[in-house]
Formats: sequence, C-alpha cells, structure tokens
Amino acid sequence: MDFSLTDEQLAFGRTFEDFCQRVIAPRAADTDRSGELDRASWADLVEMGWFGLYAESAWGGTAEQVDWVIRAQAEESLAKACAATFLSAGASIGLCGAPLRLFGSPETQARWLPRLVAGEAIGCFGLTEPDAGTDAASIRCRAARTEGGWRLYGEKALITNAPLADVAVVMAVTDPDAGHMGVTAFCVDLSRPGVERTAPYRKLGLRGSPTGGLVFDGAFVPDVDVVGEVGAGFVQAMQTLEMGRISMSHFGIGIAEAAFEAACRYAQERKAFGRPIARKQAVHFKIADMKVMIDGARLMARKAAWSKEAGLPCADLASIAKTFATEAAVKVADMAVQIHGGWGYTDDFPAERLLRDARLGPIGEGTSEIQRELIARSMLSV
Ligand SMILES: Cc1cc2nc3c(=O)[nH]c(=O)nc-3n(C[C@H](O)[C@H](O)[C@H](O)COP(=O)(O)OP(=O)(O)OC[C@H]3O[C@@H](n4cnc5c(N)ncnc54)[C@H](O)[C@@H]3O)c2cc1C
Repeated sequence: MDFSLTDEQLAFGRTFEDFCQRVIAPRAADTDRSGELDRASWADLVEMGWFGLYAESAWGGTAEQVDWVIRAQAEESLAKACAATFLSAGASIGLCGAPLRLFGSPETQARWLPRLVAGEAIGCFGLTEPDAGTDAASIRCRAARTEGGWRLYGEKALITNAPLADVAVVMAVTDPDAGHMGVTAFCVDLSRPGVERTAPYRKLGLRGSPTGGLVFDGAFVPDVDVVGEVGAGFVQAMQTLEMGRISMSHFGIGIAEAAFEAACRYAQERKAFGRPIARKQAVHFKIADMKVMIDGARLMARKAAWSKEAGLPCADLASIAKTFATEAAVKVADMAVQIHGGWGYTDDFPAERLLRDARLGPIGEGTSEIQRELIARSMLSV
C-alpha cells in the first residue's frame, strides 16, 4: 500500500493551500458577518482555476489533467479557509455542474457549463422540499407534460445558493405511480417566468453561503433541458450525492484543520499560572484527540476519493468518510472553543465560527442518521 502523493499532487496541494490561506482565509470572518456570498473570493477562485477542476477542457476546465486526490486537497484547503465559500462553490460546480456534465444534453452542457466554470453563472441543486428531506423519494414537486417540454409546480427548500443562483438542477415527479423511478431531473433557467425565490433563511453558520427556497408555478423547461432520461432523476441525484458526500468529508476535514491550527496557536500564546496553557496535560489531550480525529478522517476521505478515481464502488466509503469527518469536525471545533476559554465564545477568534459552520456537516447531503442506516444495511445486506 502506497500512501505517498505524486510530485504533481504535492505541488498542486501546496499551491492551493497557499492561495486559500493568503487570499480567501483573511476574508472569512467578514464574509460570515456580512451574511453574503464573497464575490471577490468567487472571482479569485475562478482565476485560480478552482471551478475548472470539475469540468473538461471543452467547457473551459482542466478535469482531464487532475484526479480526485488533487480535487480532495483543493476542497480541503478551501473549506479550511472559508467553509461558506466552499459550500456555495461546491453546490454550483459540483451538485449542479456534475449532473449536467454526466447526464445533460449537449445543448444544456454548452449553455451552462462554460458559464459555471467561468463563474459567470451560479448553480444550485434542488432536491429537498419543505416536507421531504431524508425521505427524498417522497418529493411532491411535479412536472407536467406540455408542448415542447414540461411545466414545473411545487417548492424546493433549504437550497444552497437559491437566493442568487442563475440555474438549478431540480428533481420533480413526472410519473406519480412509479415511485422513485418516476422522478426526473430538469435543468431550470431560474430567470424564466414561473420561478420565485423565498427570502434567504437566517442560519446558525455558513452565513456567507445563502440558502433559500425555490417556488415553481408553471415554469417552462424545454425537452432539451431534461437532464438524462425521464424517470432517472432519483438515481442521478443519488450518484451526485455520492460525490457530494466525499466533498462533505473534505468540508469537515478543512474546518477541523482550521480549528486545530487556531487551537495550537492560542495554546502556545495564552498564559495561565505563569506558563503557556500548551504545557497543561488537559490541553495536550485535546490537541492529541483533535489530531487523531483529523488524520483518521483524512485517511477515510482519501480512500473514498482514490476509489472514485479508480472507478471502484465507493458509496459505503463515501458514507463512512462523511459521517466520521463531519462529526469529527464538530468535536474538534468544540475543543478549539474550549481551549480558547471565554475568548473562544467571541468572534474575536475564529473558533466560534468554525463550530457554527461545522454543524451543517452531520445534516447536509444526507444526515449522519441516514448514513448509518446506509452503512449498516450494506454491511448486513438487508
Ligand atoms: C445550510 C443547508 C444547505 C443545504 N443545501 C441543500 C441543497 O443545496 N440542496 C438540497 O436539495 N438540500 C439542501 N439542504 C437540505 C439537507 O440536505 C436536508 O436538510 C437534509 O437532507 C435533512 O433533511 P430534512 O432537513 O428534511 O430533515 P428530515 O429528513 O426531516 O430529518 C429530521 C431528523 O430525522 C432523522 N431521520 C429522518 N429519517 C430517518 C431514518 N430513516 N432513520 C433515522 N433517522 C431519520 C434525520 O436524520 C434528522 O435527524 C441543505 C440544508 C442546509 C441546512
């Protein structure tokens, strides 16, 4: 077994980490306070080629030249620098871009992928509804056949980027009698008549990643913008979420790494009883536990990414890595707050933001509970 990275992977990882720490991280606290997407970081990520990692050269990207381990490093570095920017960028090029890339018609791809890569358009992914989250097969948003296409009716809720997105991949029911095989994915131009957006939600964390709802009242989608086969939308959504779960592992590892570094810095600077608190065994144990969790999470996530690259089945690995890494991030960020004492509870230090941001991990893209269900069912073959 060879755990070493290639020279190219190492060089890419270093370049991206340096860029994220130098350019993105210094803006993270202000982005959180503003509650708005950091457009400057978005433009810088475009310039750096971050979005291009997820699309082929035909769409302006570099996907043919990079692998999942390189993307893993890029995701980890961005989440570490600013988790909110990571979430919105990932929703745009990953959750929205991936199904268009994998299943979209040539016309849909040509219209949207170059714009997503160039940061000129923002994408989102509409699966969750007010009454259907974990139980995604029970969505009620429906698509009715009309001349030349479909009309959408219904509501999507808790959608990353919905307040400002230009385009959405939306799952809707096309055959109510066919269960989850009656769900179809549509690429929806959100500027069309019949699309409304709810006000952005006020959230615990990730405030620089706007989340909102989409309401469809007869919005027209031409046949060419059906994503893949009619009736294949649920399966496509699950494939998209499998990749999304590997990315969410990186979200957790990035936040945990940021919290760990902040805690180490503070422990070495802060003095109590005449010595740095870094000399106290109670602090040592926390630092060690944080490191054990981060390294464990990274190993699991890299295995999932490597398996994806090798074309091996990785649904279980993605669920395992996502569950461990996102739960570890909450624990690590909480320990970082504790090491900061009362100052950890203020926004003078990043620990409180990291704890708030980390809390999405065990919820988004499949809760920890449903991941455990999936893992156990797979292990028990039930
Ligand atoms: C900031 C943010 C961004 C998001 N972005 C997107 C997005 O871009 N696109 C999108 O489609 N969705 C998005 N979501 C929605 C997210 O994926 C859902 O919130 C999540 O899947 C859980 O669904 P729910 O909120 O309806 O909870 P529910 O499904 O109602 O679950 C409530 C509780 O019941 C538990 N539960 C439910 N079923 C089971 C079961 N079978 N076994 C054990 N426990 C169970 C859950 O684990 C949870 O603890 C986002 C959510 C947030 C908070």
